Amino acid sequence: MTTLNCPICGKPAIPVYHPFCSRRCQLIDLGHWLGGNYKIPDTESDRDWFKETED
Ligand SMILES: [Zn+2]
Repeated sequence: MTTLNCPICGKPAIPVYHPFCSRRCQLIDLGHWLGGNYKIPDTESDRDWFKETED
């Protein structure tokens, strides 16, 4: 069984968010595909980031 790494941040992916490592990275990728003005959050600012995308 191969362990995939998150394409966003490179951390090991987990099945729940496959192929990502977290909901944040999943949302980042989603924002990317939506062609929105997404940005990669620095650390734990996913809440602020999500708020921006809702605007
Ligand atoms: Zn990640």
